[in-house]
Amino acid sequence: MPKMLAELAKGKQYLRILSPYLPARSRLAPMSEPFTAAIILAGGRGHRAGEGIPKQYRPMPDGSGDNVLARSIAIFAENQAITQLCIVIHKDDVSLYNKTLTYCNNSDKIIYAFGGDSRQQSVFNGLEVLAKDNPHAVFIHDAARPFASQALMARCLDNLSGHDGVVPALPVTDTLKKAENGLISETVPRAGLFRAQTPQLFLFDRLYEAHKTAPQNLTDDAAVAEHAGLRVHIVEGEAQNIKLTTEEDFTMNTQILPRTGSGFDVHRFDKAGSTEEITLCGVSVPHDRKIIGHSDADVGLHALTDAILGALAEADIGAHFPPSDAAHKDRASTEFLAHAMSLAAAKQARLTHIDLTLICEAPKIGPHRDAMRASLSALTGLPLTAVSVKATTTEGLGFTGRGEGIAAQATATLLISGDA
Ligand code: MG
Repeated sequence: MPKMLAELAKGKQYLRILSPYLPARSRLAPMSEPFTAAIILAGGRGHRAGEGIPKQYRPMPDGSGDNVLARSIAIFAENQAITQLCIVIHKDDVSLYNKTLTYCNNSDKIIYAFGGDSRQQSVFNGLEVLAKDNPHAVFIHDAARPFASQALMARCLDNLSGHDGVVPALPVTDTLKKAENGLISETVPRAGLFRAQTPQLFLFDRLYEAHKTAPQNLTDDAAVAEHAGLRVHIVEGEAQNIKLTTEEDFTMNTQILPRTGSGFDVHRFDKAGSTEEITLCGVSVPHDRKIIGHSDADVGLHALTDAILGALAEADIGAHFPPSDAAHKDRASTEFLAHAMSLAAAKQARLTHIDLTLICEAPKIGPHRDAMRASLSALTGLPLTAVSVKATTTEGLGFTGRGEGIAAQATATLLISGDA
């Protein structure tokens, strides 16, 4: 027991020296029992993903707010089976790394090491740090794979028994060609070929020893293990577990989310005989009571405009076109709708559905419903099948029931990228 306490103290001191920017760990791994650690490789420069900061410090392409490394850390930090986490970073990235930790829970599990000149050297540096605490098993993971699931981790852990390591992989489904000078020379049989992913799980001692004798520039730890003749079991990988590599990966995988906005509007009717027709949803409808309003008072288009603004979280129609501004007097409501549509376009948001309800005793909406749908379809570019116009009375109750005014409510559904 004294020996264990001495090791604990030594480990704690070591961690403090190694991680001057981190709070001292409040809890140490139960080193008297076998435990699983993880190494996350975050030392790459990531040039292929475009200019600027290394890709592992870029925002997640799904727009969730955290960065790629923070998401990869979370996969392991939140897993109860993982007691210690070593992040291997580039020596130039200490401030980026410290900022990343502000996104992370369970940072008491996390230490870091500096990377080497190659991926293989970086893994070895991480293993050397962890060796002080002698884990039973270790996951090796590339920070640039932030979509690995807990199910994948569990699959690796469940299959380690009886093997030296477990590697997730997917069978190759594309036809493989060999080519020279732009000409195909051979079709390579793909039977038995797999694409290896990370996280890769190994018995710690076996991998550590294998690294000590491996030739340099092997591209993953399964290759290191293979060189040492270790028994590495293959389990099914995940299609979602992609490695963010190119600029395209950061844009193509942007998560598109549906957003629904709602709008509501009311206008007062003028006295009987004040007009012969009114405009609803851009359609002229015979009616003897003018709709009173600062603009052309198209209550349907106003509700719809507000619904679109709502989905974009861009305030309301009054904020964009203040009634106090004389410039908007008698303005066509189609312009308000066009403005909301242009805001959506600027955010690369796409309107996909409208449901609009007009609430009045008169005029009767039914005879004009299809014309209104066609009008809204033309104004928004939506197919008719995605444009719904409904009508209701209020059974003689309230201001609409007394014929004093007309109300409209609308919902608009937009597909919007997660970070817009
Ligand atoms: Mg209005």
